[in-house]
Amino acid sequence: MQPFTLLIKPSGSDCNIDCKYCFYKDRPSEFGHGKQRMSAEVLETLVKDYMDLDFPVAGFAWQGGEPTLMGVDFFRRAVELQKKYGSANVEQPETLFEFCIENELTYLQFIPCVETDPATGGPAEFSITPRQYGDFLCRLFDLWYDYGPEKLNIREFDSLLTHYVLGKHTICTYSKQCAGFVVIEHTGDAFCCEFFVEPKWRLGNILETPLEKLAGDSKKRAFARDKEKLCNKCLLCRHLDICRGGCMKDRARWNEQGGERESYFCESYRQFFDNTVPRFMQIAAGIENGSVGRHTRSADKIRLHIEKLQRKQRFKIKSLA
Ligand code: SF4
Ligand code: SF4
Repeated sequence: MQPFTLLIKPSGSDCNIDCKYCFYKDRPSEFGHGKQRMSAEVLETLVKDYMDLDFPVAGFAWQGGEPTLMGVDFFRRAVELQKKYGSANVEQPETLFEFCIENELTYLQFIPCVETDPATGGPAEFSITPRQYGDFLCRLFDLWYDYGPEKLNIREFDSLLTHYVLGKHTICTYSKQCAGFVVIEHTGDAFCCEFFVEPKWRLGNILETPLEKLAGDSKKRAFARDKEKLCNKCLLCRHLDICRGGCMKDRARWNEQGGERESYFCESYRQFFDNTVPRFMQIAAGIENGSVGRHTRSADKIRLHIEKLQRKQRFKIKSLA
């Protein structure tokens, strides 16, 4: 379908300004004149139906009459509904999970979006918060655990399982060192990590130096070892063995305490590990004795389970409203 913008008249032709050139003046309104207000039911239906069309961009144009006569709460509700029925995001792991199962996507990776706001030097307004990321990981883990870890690969979770089964991680975030990458830029320049493509961590150029030599460079080894410099909080943390302080890029930002710094996502990791470590260990034991898979649910059952969780979530939101 050709994408279109919705032109919405929530208060019909009603207006408190009464301009003499208004096109409603000489036009009989099908709905009459005076106070007209869109109901909550119409608002929710139009937002849901429109968002379900899944256009690349959703355009809502509020028109009248005078749409602001609806009051600010009406528009707050509209934004809430747009978030609710819009693309799945960090607040909707159940929707995301269901989408992946339905579309048979079985190798997944979730990278938390966090960037610096150049104006403030702090986290950009769109960045995920540590609490959001922790909640997301916990809810996603619950779904994965119930569905069957052997049926769906989630990179971050697989790394923890590998740690419990084989004693080492498969992703660098939780590894002891930052040793897993060499980045090659379009010029042939080589760097230690995609998050540190900067002069300090330039290893050289593959047109001038063999890749093998660049990968074994002392600068590369120094970069890898930097991850082992942990703050006291990490050194004393009960999760140190599986977390290793997280990714270096998340330690480098927004923390001016000096010395070694804890990760921006420390709170997320603690919440996640506190909630899931016993179950990771249980799955790992199941992998070792070959029993993983016996307790897991079918796709239909998991769908029902997700619907139940979503109903619960909606109830929670309503109760808060
Ligand atoms: S959970 Fe926090 S304190 Fe513990 S190792 Fe990870 S980043 Fe450090
Ligand atoms: S900085 Fe982060 S992404 Fe880069 S190698 Fe280290 S842990 Fe991996």
